[in-house]
Amino acid sequence: MGCLMNERKQYLYGPVPSRRLGRSLGVDLAPHKTCTYDCIYCQLGRTTNKTIERKEWVPTKEVLAQVQEKLSTKPDYITLSGSGEPTLHAHLEELIRGIKSVTDIPVAVITNGSLLWLPEVQRSLLDADLIVPSLDAESEDIFQYVNRPHSEIGFDQMLAGLREFRRLFKGQYWLEVFLLNGVTTVAQRIQALRACIETISPDRVQVNTVVRPPAEGYAMAVPRDQLEEIAAQLYPGAEVIAPCTLAGEGRPSSEGSDDVLDLLRRRPCSVADIAAGLQLHPHEVAKCVARLLSEQKVRAHAHEGTQYYEARL
Ligand code: SF4
Repeated sequence: MGCLMNERKQYLYGPVPSRRLGRSLGVDLAPHKTCTYDCIYCQLGRTTNKTIERKEWVPTKEVLAQVQEKLSTKPDYITLSGSGEPTLHAHLEELIRGIKSVTDIPVAVITNGSLLWLPEVQRSLLDADLIVPSLDAESEDIFQYVNRPHSEIGFDQMLAGLREFRRLFKGQYWLEVFLLNGVTTVAQRIQALRACIETISPDRVQVNTVVRPPAEGYAMAVPRDQLEEIAAQLYPGAEVIAPCTLAGEGRPSSEGSDDVLDLLRRRPCSVADIAAGLQLHPHEVAKCVARLLSEQKVRAHAHEGTQYYEARL
């Protein structure tokens, strides 16, 4: 099993199975865990560097070189996201242009949307193919409770940014709405959220809930049937993001695939997640994970009946 033998790609992970983007080559533009928010449901744990400072958090040239090396893995999307908020990277525009100059693979940016009111952030995203911003709250109170934003970001400003960028951006704009049981499942809040979404008018709305272990144990998942009902109330055609159905193809790690440990440094995954993302047979993944556990490089924890693995940082 050569999963640990591959050269480590410091700023890339995957391709990983994405519930909406197929096989997604992830590009990490902010170090763990640098974000404008500290969401109670975050699968990366609590934010250790809550900031709105935009700077070259990771070296632009190096990231571009690594992306180019990984194009042979033929991902469905090159996705800028990762261990924090990608719009905090000050050279985002150069990065997106650089990627698009070497490949036709579409570029997606998964952002919390907190900085879309900034003209420089708006400009930097215009060349992307798909932007997936988030909206989890309908009021300042719930915004503070769920997203725990940086003190200089207010709900009204954030929402105005989501609307404004929608008007400027010519690509696809999919809004992700993350719902928490007992918090955003209250009827009144659903109606208010719907009103907010209508003013944004995204191409698609995707509804999500807690799937992987959250930063705070009290962030509770919404049951699937309720999620479907709420999606139908929120926006025409709103969809619940389906669990990933990609399956490992049973062939050995292809040249250039990231290793399991690299993937687990970025996010907790089940054996099935790893197998699908790295195109490995689940048995091979299980062996690799067992080895990493015995070497104390990863730890395991169960969440809602599924065993997840994450790297010990
Ligand atoms: S869920 Fe996203 S926006 Fe929220 S804290 Fe985690 S990385 Fe930041």
